[in-house]
Formats: sequence, structure tokens, C-alpha cells
Amino acid sequence: MLKEEKQQAESQLVNANNATIIVGRRLWDSVEAIQDGFAVFDQDNVMVAANSAYLRPFEGLESVGPGITYSELLSIATEKGIIDIGDMSRSSWMQDMTLRWTTKGIEARTLRLWNGTFIKLIDQRARDGDTVSLALNITDTIRYEAKLKNARSRAEAANRAKSAFLANMSHEIRTPMNGVVGMADLLADTKLDEEQRLFIDTIKSSGEALLVLINDVLDYSKIEADKIKLRSDVFDLERAIHEIAMLLQPGLQDKDVDLIIDYDLFLPTHFIGDAGRVRQVLNNLIGNAIKFTSHGHVLVRVVGLPAQDGAAQRVHISIEDTGIGIPPDMIHHIFGEFNQVEDDRNRAFEGTGLGLAITKKLITLMGGEVWVDSEIGTGSSFGFHLTMPIGAKPETSIERVPDWLGRVVVVDGQGLNRRIIEKQLRMAGLDTEKHRLGEEVFGKAYDASDVFLIDQRLPDMLGTGLAEKLRADGFQGSIILFSTTPSLPKTAKTTVSRVMQKPVRRRDLFAALASLKEPKTLNGPSLIQPTLPEPIAPKNLRPMRILAAEDNKTNRLVFSKLIKSLNVELIFATNGREAIDAYKAEKPDLIFMDISMPGIDGLEATRIIRQIEQDKAIERTTIVALTAHAMAGDDHSILASGLDYHLTKPFRKDEIFARIAEEIPEQCLPVFPELVKVAQG
Ligand code: ADP
Repeated sequence: MLKEEKQQAESQLVNANNATIIVGRRLWDSVEAIQDGFAVFDQDNVMVAANSAYLRPFEGLESVGPGITYSELLSIATEKGIIDIGDMSRSSWMQDMTLRWTTKGIEARTLRLWNGTFIKLIDQRARDGDTVSLALNITDTIRYEAKLKNARSRAEAANRAKSAFLANMSHEIRTPMNGVVGMADLLADTKLDEEQRLFIDTIKSSGEALLVLINDVLDYSKIEADKIKLRSDVFDLERAIHEIAMLLQPGLQDKDVDLIIDYDLFLPTHFIGDAGRVRQVLNNLIGNAIKFTSHGHVLVRVVGLPAQDGAAQRVHISIEDTGIGIPPDMIHHIFGEFNQVEDDRNRAFEGTGLGLAITKKLITLMGGEVWVDSEIGTGSSFGFHLTMPIGAKPETSIERVPDWLGRVVVVDGQGLNRRIIEKQLRMAGLDTEKHRLGEEVFGKAYDASDVFLIDQRLPDMLGTGLAEKLRADGFQGSIILFSTTPSLPKTAKTTVSRVMQKPVRRRDLFAALASLKEPKTLNGPSLIQPTLPEPIAPKNLRPMRILAAEDNKTNRLVFSKLIKSLNVELIFATNGREAIDAYKAEKPDLIFMDISMPGIDGLEATRIIRQIEQDKAIERTTIVALTAHAMAGDDHSILASGLDYHLTKPFRKDEIFARIAEEIPEQCLPVFPELVKVAQG
């Protein structure tokens, strides 16, 4: 019985052994069949087994096989030059590989062999302290990647070359185009019959359209060619938005659209960034919103969240319109180059289809993001965010409103506007009353300490009409009129205390409220004397002085013709030296400075003027660069030299007028013809 049991046990053992041998052989045959290398090392780092693919690089070297230690293997591999160790010394390479081998989770490593083969080592700890080593041949992948990389960098180089060529070409085309448009402008001012006028207008508008296109192409190709360098200067974001709104006013003229700006009350206004590029983005988005909206409003909203580290501010800007909207299938398409929504409602609008592509690239370049949300027929909302450091320039605090001020009565047809103004006034602790229609305030009793803020375009009447009515009813307090155009009926002169250009900056609104005269009597509506308009007796006033430095005779002619309708004193300088002399002698209120002039150029002249101002502690005069160059590099050196703004030629009446309008000093006579008429009665 015992013997039988023993025999049975022995035969079972033999069977089990045989089975193990078969499993082992099968396993090993499979491992051998793998194209990649496979080896196992024990806890003493001695090779226990390796397939022939693993040993192939060491062919002919008998010592390499099971029994060899990992460090002997490394030593042989370097000694025989089997592995390309590059610039490293043998000892440091081996040290590096040994260190790697001893770390817990061994990192994958790619090695190059003497014959150009690439091997990726993937080593992994197994149970009982063993290490399994896989050596994958990845030569094909590496070669393919290199090929792709090469092709890609060749394509990128070609693309950059194309963009650089486009940038140069468009720059070259601009210069003669400036001459064409400028001269057409001058010709338009001469005596012409109707047909000639039509021809010249066509030349002008085609020229201008071409310039817009060229500018877009120039910009786009500069971004593509990596030629845009971002500046970082302190700039006033709120002011920039208001200036853009002013420049875009002509687009609103014949439409029933309100342009509203809602700048977060608690958000700083000065930031460090590329003001020019931020303006370009805003100009594109607000311009589009106005272009594609015929009724309702365009609302520019600016809110901010302080960034996590506290040093920078994340600013969200959205531009919402009540325009035609964008079909859902086109919504991502519009950010591409030359892409426009092609349908009947869109066909009427001109454009290059490059604006949004440029906008997106610029925002991305500035580290931000842009998005859009739109519903056909309801409107679109474009938004972007940028993170910018807060400007070092201390925020000038908003002026205190006088204590005597009573209620502020806001009469505005636009609900959003009413709410925004109310929000701002409430911050200053002012009591407000809001009305949509003019007739809502009829017959109510108001005090002389009350102030009316009236929009000129009310749903039921003109703001000036309401002012007349209030005065007729005996209201003696101040009336501030918000208007988009400077042309107002003559009655405004006697009824309105102050006219403010819409959209009104909160800072300007508070300054206006702070400067209101305290009424002589605060006791009710017995006195029917209307308050006189703010600009006081004209005898103290002088014309605004503008200095223009420009070496080109034609350009001087164009410039003087452009502003000839304005009530200003124009002084010309033909080079930088003359500009400095004229600055000293005439003390201009505003300077337009050409940059490339013989001798002392515009940059140098500006630096000298800034130095004089500093030495003598004179108030800074705004200097506007006028140049034919639109290259980013130029822009940088221009603003770095102390110029405040940069306009590119050809001279554009609206831009020049807007700049002048911003700079009119208080002691000057009205500059714009419509206001001159009002003031002179
Ligand atoms: P452009 O306005 O010069 O055609 P853009 O790149 O600025 O080029 O805009 C591309 C297209 O996107 C426009 O042609 C228009 O179809 C659509 N689009 C842009 N903004 C608006 C908007 N606010 N409302 C409706 N459609 C818009």
C-alpha cells in the first residue's frame, strides 16, 4: 500500500514536472517569437533569462547571456561602442543608467545603437525583487517623427516667408494709396460738377476700402510671420473704450441703435498691456456689432476678477448686440480667414472677413480667449478675457459731488442706460429718479438743487425740448444733456447747463456734477431765471492752438484742408527743429507729429519736448504721432518716445476730429462749427 502510494506520488510528480517543462517551453517559445527584446533580472541584478532579440546587439560576445550582471552589461555595451552615448563620458553614462535602474518606478529611456537603431527600454519591477526589461525597437517611429517634424518646419518656414512677403507688399502698397486717397480728398473740396463729384467720391471710397483691406492683410500676415511684438505700457482701458465708441459714432448716425458702456465700478481703469492691440480688438468687435445691428443696442460690458496671485486682474469684456445674429453652423467658421456668413441678410455688409481672424489671433497672443454666443434674429454676444497687471499709475479718485446736490433725475429712453447711470450715482450716495419718457416729469415739483440728466433722443421728444419745457415751468437747477452729435438746436444755449458726448465716462460725469454751480436760491420754483450754460463769457476764451509738424508739402495741404472747418489756430512746422521752436514759442494745446522728418525726426523732437516739460515742470502737451508706417516695431518706439497716440496716414477726418475733441482745453473757444453756432446764438 505504501509502495503503491509512493509510486503514484512519483508518477504524479513526473507528470507535474513534464507539464511545468511544457508550460515553460511554451512560454519561452512565445517570448522568443517576440520581435522586441525581453529579459529578466533577479534581485541581485543578475540576468536570469533573455530572448535572442535582447541579446542580438551583443552578438559574438559570449560573456553576455544569463548570469551576467546589469552593470557588467552596461560596461560591455559602452566599452564595445554598442550604445551611442553621445557627448557623455562612459563613467557618467553608466552612473546615470545605474541610478535609473535603482529607482523605484524606472523611467522609460530611449537609446541609440551604433547602427542607428533606436531602442526604448521599459523596465518594470516584478514580484520577489525581479526586474523585467523590455527593449522595444522604435526606429521606424522615430524616423517617421523626424520626417514629419522636418516637413512641418519646412511648411512653417514657407508660410512665414509668404506672410513676410505679404506684409512687405501691403506696406509698399499703402504709401502710394495714401497719396491717392489724400489727393482725392483735396480734389473733392474744389468746385466740381455733379458727375465729377460722383467720380471723385468713388475714387475716395474705393481707395479707403482698399486701404482697410491692405491694413487687415498687413496685420494678419504680420501675426502669421511672428512679427508682432506685444508692448506693455500703462494704459487707461475705460478711456480707450470710450475713444473707440466716439470714433465709431458715425456708424450709428442713421440707425436706431444705442451704444452703451457699462464699466464695472470697482474695476481699476489703468492696466499694463498692449493698448494698441487691445484697442484693435475692441474696435473690431464693437465695429462689427454696430455694423450688423440696425435697431436696439450695442452694450460693451467690462467686469473683472482679481487673478489668483493678486498682482494681475482678469478682465472680461463682452460686446452684446441686438443685431442679425449668426447661424449656428457658421459660428466657429467666422473666426477663420476670409470667412463671412453668406446669406441674404449679410450680403449688404462690406468687409474683408479678416477682422475676427485677427481678433482671435491677437487675443490668443495676449494670453486670452475669445468666445461668441449668438441667436439668429436676436443678436450676438462676443466676449473675451485678458489677464493684465494693474497699472502702476495711481487711480485718480472719482471727484466728490457737491453737498448741496439734491436729487438727480435721469430721463433716458434706454433702460440699460438708466440702470447704469443709477448704479454710478448710487455709488456716490446720490438720490436718483429715473424716467423713460419726457412727459413723465411734467407737472412735478423740482428743487433748484436737483439736476436733470437728459438724453437728447427720448422716445417722445427731444431732450432739448424737455429742457425748454422744464425752464418754462420754472426749473432753475442744472440740466446736463447727453447727446451723440454736437449739433443741437439753438435753444440749448439758454436751457442746458452742459452738453456731454455719449457714451459718457463715469469719471467725466462726476467731474461735470462736481463742477456745477450752486444755485443762488434753493427755495423752490419762484425764480424763473434759467441757469446760463457753463462755458462762461467768451471774452476770456481763445482759439485752441494746434501744432502740426509735417515735412511733406502735400500732406500739409491735406491736413490744413481737413481741419479748415474748425475754429482753431493751426501752426505748421516742417521739421523736428521747427516743431521744438514752435512748441516753445506758441505753447500749443495739441501737437500732431510726423515721425520721419529730415534732421531731427518726430521721435527725437518729442523726446526733447518731453524733456523741456520735465525741466520746467510744465503741463504735458498731448502729442499724436502721424505716420505712414503701421509696423508693430514702429508703434513701440513711437509710444516709447513719449508720444501719446498713434494715427496712421492717410489723415482721417474722423480720427483727427475725435482726437481734437478730446483735447480741447477749458479756456478755449468752441472748436466744432455746430457748437460755435450755438454759443454765438
Ligand atoms: P468682416 O466684418 O470684415 O466681414 P469679420 O472677420 O470681422 O469680417 O467677421 C466675419 C463675419 O462674421 C462677418 O462677415 C459676419 O458675417 C459675421 N459677424 C461678425 N460679427 C457679427 C455680429 N456682431 N453680428 C452678426 N454677424 C457677425
